[in-house]
Amino acid sequence: MIDVKNYIDGQWVGFDGPSFESFNPTTGAKVARAPVSDAAAVAASVAAARRAFNEGGWRWTKGSVRAAALLKLADMLESRSPAISELIAREMGKPVRVNMAREVEGAVDKLRYFAGAARFLEGSVTGSTVPEIWDMVLPEPAGVAALIIPWNDPVDLAVRKLGAALAAGCTAIVKSSEITPASTAALIEAVHDSGAFPPGVVNLLSGPGQPTGDALVDHPGVDKISFTGSTATGMRIMERAAKRLAKVSLECGGKFPAIITEDADLERCLDAVTYGAFMYGGQSCTACTRLVVDRRLHDRVVEGIVERSRTLPMGDPLDPAMLVGPMASRKQYDKAVSYIRLGIDEGARAVVGGLPADPSSLFLPPTVLVGGPVDGRVAREEVFGPVLVIHPFENEAQALAIANNTPYGLGGSVWSQDINRALRLARRLDVADVWINTHYIRHVETSFGGRHHSGLGRELGMAGVEEYLSWKRLCIDTRSEFHLKNWFEGPSK
Ligand code: NAD
Repeated sequence: MIDVKNYIDGQWVGFDGPSFESFNPTTGAKVARAPVSDAAAVAASVAAARRAFNEGGWRWTKGSVRAAALLKLADMLESRSPAISELIAREMGKPVRVNMAREVEGAVDKLRYFAGAARFLEGSVTGSTVPEIWDMVLPEPAGVAALIIPWNDPVDLAVRKLGAALAAGCTAIVKSSEITPASTAALIEAVHDSGAFPPGVVNLLSGPGQPTGDALVDHPGVDKISFTGSTATGMRIMERAAKRLAKVSLECGGKFPAIITEDADLERCLDAVTYGAFMYGGQSCTACTRLVVDRRLHDRVVEGIVERSRTLPMGDPLDPAMLVGPMASRKQYDKAVSYIRLGIDEGARAVVGGLPADPSSLFLPPTVLVGGPVDGRVAREEVFGPVLVIHPFENEAQALAIANNTPYGLGGSVWSQDINRALRLARRLDVADVWINTHYIRHVETSFGGRHHSGLGRELGMAGVEEYLSWKRLCIDTRSEFHLKNWFEGPSK
């Protein structure tokens, strides 16, 4: 069993208090033991991050210095990609192939982007003043950043925040998820072993929301909180952070609709939405969870999804041929099953999947629900599991009404070969991230985020780095006299 320690001030720190364990969802075996970090551990990590920010001078380092450190970390992580990909497969059940190609390699690519970003931080000088006045806005690092992440991408989601925070000149405390403490610790091991970062610049805490998350969010020494996770937790964090006006960004849940119009390239669309819905058990915030389909295509779409979902390679996540493993935890499995039951109770019919025959294993085959109400709970709430609902529409207005009928606003997709129709629908989808004729393309260069119950702020791209900046306005007057000296003799300039 892996013994996960906290990482504070450049040291792996033993902990005398209570601990928790993570489990292999395929076998039930224990994977790791990690500390339930308390307020004292939180205080020690914040103090270390503060020292590194101020006395250690990380905030004043040149962009090129931070870039070099991030590039070194990227190389170290890349060299460990196979081992870390296997660890993620063991600790949360996401197939090793997905971890290699998307999670760890994706994180490496992001670190290299953020290295570049560290050298591109720009402010602005106002060009509309008299020439003797220099009026400008400077980017400065926000300070100590608490980075709270979920379990579904335990390395990549940490890097989205950590890379941006370090590029901006912040110091950071990463809080891992209680489901995947070892996977995120493997990233921080790469930080340590790279030798690229001075003590205290990067810290790691393990522990659940209570007491660890609460203590971190409440700590007055934390200047910026960046959270990815459920909407309920995001709301709680925002409420607590409001008491001291800490800067907050939130990447929360989603309920992704795909609008499939009558002129869609159906084969391509069915391939994409099947992967979108069921790859690693739908445990992704941008998993495709609702198909809103032109009624004329409805039966063909249902048939095509059923056929494809039956052939998706599901099994041991350590087998490189698999695309779907078990659900990450008993809690996640039970939640998904409860939504299947709810969907059936609401009047839907499972055309594939349905209530599992053997609930002792955490492998949950894809479920497709048809015929349920468009305003039912399973149609509007996030499941975070392999459950897809399909609704027919008669016209574009109805398609949009169904697609937008949820409190979330993370992402959606439009499937049409008519460019005008596709763009028309994309503009009217009330989400922050739209794919046209594709699914699961994400580039670090392009920022994304959520609206409504899906969150606040941006991640990735330069906008993602700006989330870790605090702007300073600086004004210099080079004239010989103070401009208000002759206040009563004329207007100030
Ligand atoms: P969660 O909200 O239960 O936990 C997320 C993290 O918050 C964990 O580290 C947890 O320990 C911590 N936490 C819990 N309570 C806290 C508190 N009171 N204060 C501070 N931290 C606290 O979510 P989860 O089950 O780990 O993750 C699944 C959710 O994440 C889904 O809703 C999914 O949509 C969302 N998600 C969103 C994105 C995105 O980019 N929008 C990406 C991935 C996952």
